[in-house]
Amino acid sequence: MDIATEDVKQYLRSLSPAELAELFYDAFLLRNVSDEPETGSREHLLLGLAYTFGDSDEGWNVELIAPTDRRIQPWDGPSPPDLIQSGSCQRCRSGAVVCWSKSAICPVCGGPVGCT
Ligand SMILES: [Zn+2]
Repeated sequence: MDIATEDVKQYLRSLSPAELAELFYDAFLLRNVSDEPETGSREHLLLGLAYTFGDSDEGWNVELIAPTDRRIQPWDGPSPPDLIQSGSCQRCRSGAVVCWSKSAICPVCGGPVGCT
């Protein structure tokens, strides 16, 4: 592993979850990682937040981390707050979404998500 890779890892570890999410989606939002034109299949990466409560036997919950919709809620630093807003995409019904702002972009389909 070279120095640049270690520098990148150290930088990524220094970011808050919201900063990491914004950086990730700047690079990867809806970017296909696999295309199969013959079947119409598409795949892309997204981020998730897994959480549980104490020693509960009820298992883990997973929510999709979404980037903010910068047309409505610009972000150009300083550091955004924690991922405290939540909502769901009415376009694709992909499940619970969390974001640091009230206006998010669905990480599955790119649709608008209003969060509270
Ligand atoms: Zn969606």
